[in-house]
Amino acid sequence: MVRKLVEVNEFVEIDARVITNGEGRTINPDKVRQDFPILQRQVHCKPLVYLDNAASTQKPQVVIDTISNFYSQMNSNIHRGVHFLSQRSTRDYDAARRTIKDFINAEEFEEVIFTRGTTESNNLIASTYGRKFLNEGDEVIISEMEHHSNIVPWQMICEERGAKLRVIPINDDGELIMEEYEKLLSEKTKIVGIVHVSNSLGTINPVKEIIKMAHDVGAKVLVDGAQSIQHVAIDVQDLDCDFFSFSGHKIYGPTGIGVFYGKKELLDAMPPYQGGGDMIMTVTFDQTTFNDLPYKFEAGTPNIAGAIGLGAAIEYVQSLGLDVIERYEHKLLSYATEELNKIDGFQMIGTARKKSSVAAFVMDGLHPMDIGTMLDMEGVAIRTGHHCTEPLMQYFGVPATSRASFAFYNTLEEVDVLVDSIKKVQKLLL
Ligand code: PMP
Repeated sequence: MVRKLVEVNEFVEIDARVITNGEGRTINPDKVRQDFPILQRQVHCKPLVYLDNAASTQKPQVVIDTISNFYSQMNSNIHRGVHFLSQRSTRDYDAARRTIKDFINAEEFEEVIFTRGTTESNNLIASTYGRKFLNEGDEVIISEMEHHSNIVPWQMICEERGAKLRVIPINDDGELIMEEYEKLLSEKTKIVGIVHVSNSLGTINPVKEIIKMAHDVGAKVLVDGAQSIQHVAIDVQDLDCDFFSFSGHKIYGPTGIGVFYGKKELLDAMPPYQGGGDMIMTVTFDQTTFNDLPYKFEAGTPNIAGAIGLGAAIEYVQSLGLDVIERYEHKLLSYATEELNKIDGFQMIGTARKKSSVAAFVMDGLHPMDIGTMLDMEGVAIRTGHHCTEPLMQYFGVPATSRASFAFYNTLEEVDVLVDSIKKVQKLLL
């Protein structure tokens, strides 16, 4: 069943900082910040201004408590255990999978596979679907703005299978050139791997259209959702994507846990990723039969606490509502873009019409590393470097950028601190 996405409600700005929707869901930064203990701390004797959310998000108390409670009250391996603790941890591990299934609107529980994160999910599909279905002369399409984790696994499997990697180019705003994508598509295209929201630019790609166009030539599509899952409501059935990957730590959950979603009929046709315990039905020295989905893809003891913690993180996000989160973050990004653009010598890298949460930039006469280091002394955490998108840096002709990335717990006042701190760096170094 295809779920109808909740209509975006009418949003009301209670004051310059607080946003609420027609159902009374509200993002009040003063209130939500209290849910995140780390945001109360200081760095270098300054209040922490955490603007490195695209690299990893902070964790609300409920996630910290859930993990702590697992280890203090429930710790036990899942499956096969007849004792109380094993049954409880199995129940909670399965419940987390159900929470995720509902969150992304997967049709089946079995379609949600736990992995270590987006990187492992992207490797899983390349090594299983890619190895089985790619043949000499076939083509895989990715884009110029992919994260290394959606480039390298495809390069590796294309080389092994004699397939060719094709790349959708971008324009100077950091948007995909869709006419070029259309030209690349042919009956040779077997897989399209596309990032939903770019970690280096913030561009929101038109994935629904990309998927439809790929399906028209019979190709399957992997959506890298590492930067969309926490900002945009995801409905895998409405998108009609074949595969979707994301990481727990980018959506206020623990590190070391992530998700690989795949349509059931495709997962059924794919060979397992790794061999070992849990992924088997029976083993003899002559032959092994594999377990049912989703366990076929989950060899060995998984990150049980991580999965349960991720379930808690997603419930927390659901309690706030992604529609208000999206709206609030949009307001933060618009304000940041406006204020940053007023700084002399500032150049935004990534000016797409549709963007989410990322302000990446270069500054005349300043090295990103110096900006990052000096901002840190002001308590402002941003990221500098190539952000695991070296081909993208090559396109823009820069070795690195500085990147501020926002979450719903950031405030307009923190944007002011960022802007003032950059001006301070200019005064000191230029
Ligand atoms: N894809 C994108 C777009 C990302 O931003 C990231 C993380 N920066 C990844 C993939 C890889 O995620 P992880 O390191 O959690 O596996």
